[in-house]
Amino acid sequence: MKTYNSLSEIQSDLATGKTNCVSLVNDYLHRIEEKKQLNAFLEVFTASALEKAKQVDEKLKTNTAGKLAGMVIGIKDNLCYKNHKVSASSKILEGFESLYSSTVVERLLAEDAIIIGRCNCDEFAMGSSNETSAYGNVLNPLDETRVPGGSSGGAAAAVAADLCLASLGTDTGGSIRQPASFCGLVGLKPTYGRVSRYGAIAYASSFDQIGPITKNITDAALIMEVMAGKDEYDSTVSSKPVPEYSKMLDNQPAKLRIAYLKDCVEAQGLNPEIKAYIYSVIEKLKADGHTVEAVDFPYLDYLVPTYYVLTTAEASSNLARYDGIGYGYRSKNATDLESTYKKSRTEGFGTEVKRRIMLGTFVLSAGYYDAYYSKGQRVRRFIQNKTNEILNNYDFILSPTTPGTAFKFGEHATDPIAMYLEDIFTVQAPITGIPAISLPMGKHSNGLPFGVQVMGKPFSEGEMFSFSKYLMEL
Ligand code: GLN
Repeated sequence: MKTYNSLSEIQSDLATGKTNCVSLVNDYLHRIEEKKQLNAFLEVFTASALEKAKQVDEKLKTNTAGKLAGMVIGIKDNLCYKNHKVSASSKILEGFESLYSSTVVERLLAEDAIIIGRCNCDEFAMGSSNETSAYGNVLNPLDETRVPGGSSGGAAAAVAADLCLASLGTDTGGSIRQPASFCGLVGLKPTYGRVSRYGAIAYASSFDQIGPITKNITDAALIMEVMAGKDEYDSTVSSKPVPEYSKMLDNQPAKLRIAYLKDCVEAQGLNPEIKAYIYSVIEKLKADGHTVEAVDFPYLDYLVPTYYVLTTAEASSNLARYDGIGYGYRSKNATDLESTYKKSRTEGFGTEVKRRIMLGTFVLSAGYYDAYYSKGQRVRRFIQNKTNEILNNYDFILSPTTPGTAFKFGEHATDPIAMYLEDIFTVQAPITGIPAISLPMGKHSNGLPFGVQVMGKPFSEGEMFSFSKYLMEL
C-alpha cells in the first residue's frame, strides 16, 4: 500500500492509471483500521467517502474533475457535514446529526475532495493535548506515549499516520499550529475573516478560524484557495478576492525584513534546543541577505491571560445553547425545566468545558465585567496595536510555535495553568486576527519534531506560503 506525501503525487498516479479514487480511499480505510489504537477518528464515513470516490473516478475519465480530485481529507469533529454526525467530542452532542454542511465542507466537496471521517479533538476545541475529549485520548503517531497536541489532535495525528492526506482543524488559540508542531506537519491559522466559519461549532467567535493541516505547503495553499473567501452565511468574512495561492509559491522572496520577538525567544520555559534552533534559522536568513531584527514586545505576559479572559467569556455565551432542550443530550434524571437545564449541562459537559463556562460567566458578570472583560478587550487592543506596529516595519514575525515538543499524557493534568502556558506563542495571532503558520522544521534530540512559526500581515497568506516554502528549503 503506497503512502502519499502530496496531492500532486496522487494526481499523477491517478492520471497514469496507477490508482483510482476508490482504491485510494480503500487504502486509507485500511490504514485507519490498522491504526485504530491512535483514536484519531471518531467516525469513518465509509459509505459517503466511497460514493464520492466513485463519482470522482467517473469525472476523471471525462476530464471534468475538480482541482482537489484525489485529496482525501479528515475533518475535525466541530465542522458540520450534512447528514453526518458531529459532536465537538462532547457527550452533550452525542448522536447529533448535522442538517447542513459548513461552507468549507461544501467548497472542498465542490472541488472533489473526499471527506473520509471526523477527527477526535478536545471537547469544544478547549485544550492543548486532546485529553479533554469525551471519547478518549489520541496518541501521537510519532511516539504513542505522548500527546498529539490539541485541540485538533485527531486531525494532526491522522495526517501524520497517513490515515488521510490532509485535514481541517480549527484554531482559536493555537489548535491547528500546536498539533501540527507536535506531529511534524504544516498548520495554518488564516487571517480572521479569510475563511467562513459557517457550520463550525463555535468556541470563541471573534477568535475561531478554520485552517488546513498538511504535509507540505502546496497542499495547504490549494486547500486555502478553495475554501477561503466571501460567504453570504458569515458576515465576518472579507470580500477581498482570494488569490490562487498555489500559483504564488515560487515567487522567490526578495530581500525581506523579518522581526523576532526577543521576549519570546528569550522566554523562560522555552526548551533550549528550540531556542538554539530559532537562532540558527535567524542566522541562515541573515546569511541569505535578509534583514532580521529583534524587536521588543512588552506584552508577552499578558497574552495568555487576555486570551483566557476573552475566549471563556465568548464560550460561556456560545455554549449556552446546549441546554438539553433543542438538541443533543437531555438528562434522564430531570424532572422540570430548571433541572433539565442543570442536569443536562452537568452531565453532558466535561470538566474543562465547565471550568471555562464558569470562568467566562464570572468575567461577564455585572460586578466583574469592567475588571475583567472590558479590561481584557482593552489589552487586546494594546496587543493589536503593538503587533500592527511591528508588521508595519517588517514582513514577517518569526517565533517558535511551542515552548517544547509533544509532552507525555497526564503531564499537565493537575495544573490547568501549566497547560494554558502551552499557548504562549500561538495566542498572539488569534488575539490580533493575523495569519500564522507552523512549519515542520525542527527536530529535537529526543527524536520529536517542533515547529517554527511565521506570522504575517492580515491577508498575506500568499506571501506567507511562498516565504514558508523558501524557509523550509533554506
Ligand atoms: N489550547 C488552546 C485552548 O485550550 C487553544 C484552543 C484552540 O485553539 N481551539 O484554548
